[in-house]
Amino acid sequence: MGFDKLLEGVLKLKVIIRAKTGLHIGGAKENVEIGGIDNIVEKLKVFFTAEKVNGKDKFLDVPYIPGSSLKGKMRSLLEWIEKPQYSDTNNFDNTKPVALAPRKEDKRGQPCGCGKCKICKLFGAHQAQGQEPVRLRFDDFYPTCDTIKLWENTLDSGYVEIKVENMINRIKGVAENPRHTERVIAGSEFEGYITLRIFEGDNLDQFLETLKTGFEMLEDDYLGGSGSRGYGRVEIKLVEYEYKKIDNGKYVNASEDSEIKKALKGVFPELVNEGEVQNAQAL
Ligand SMILES: [Zn+2]
Repeated sequence: MGFDKLLEGVLKLKVIIRAKTGLHIGGAKENVEIGGIDNIVEKLKVFFTAEKVNGKDKFLDVPYIPGSSLKGKMRSLLEWIEKPQYSDTNNFDNTKPVALAPRKEDKRGQPCGCGKCKICKLFGAHQAQGQEPVRLRFDDFYPTCDTIKLWENTLDSGYVEIKVENMINRIKGVAENPRHTERVIAGSEFEGYITLRIFEGDNLDQFLETLKTGFEMLEDDYLGGSGSRGYGRVEIKLVEYEYKKIDNGKYVNASEDSEIKKALKGVFPELVNEGEVQNAQAL
């Protein structure tokens, strides 16, 4: 039995992630020289146009937030609270809410693969491709132009700070083996899109609520590495949305669609202008 629902529409949410503390999303390991950096930050070349960055078109090797990092983190947080729909062969009591504990279906901490729960619909069923289309897509998040200017004005070289951390020798009571870790500085902002595909029969309110919960959990947790040592506290801001729907076989902009506005207003009111919604409903 395959998936036979039609696509109804695509909702794009423009999101800004602001680092409240130093952020370290690790890049590929480099050969560490003596006195070199032990932990580098993931970077890539991004093209910026002249009017945006200091008067010149240029490629910059900037830190970014890979969509995979954001997706993986939100999924893992949500799996602490969401209840999967187990298959018949699983005798876990599905009628009782699951407290803050790992799912019993987890195999050695792997993601849910039931293919039926909200998490599997939104993020994809682990190791069970093709049961349902994955609803959510996470872009890579690139630094805003203001953030690049902040880096250029604040940092001596490159676009990261170097944090030195020592290990304390328990017997001598002195710091040893300093390690050098690159971090994106607090106050940096990254922007990108999270896209939600909506199919016939999907519960949009439920999907949006789950996404919101994921954002809230992420804000109280951390992104990237060394979260137990204060790294990676982030704030998530939704700034814009765009909705396109399938209308008589055409893919058309429908951001003013009253159903979409109503759903968004209930969960992410910051995206919807109060007056506009009332007008839409009056029509
Ligand atoms: Zn599942």
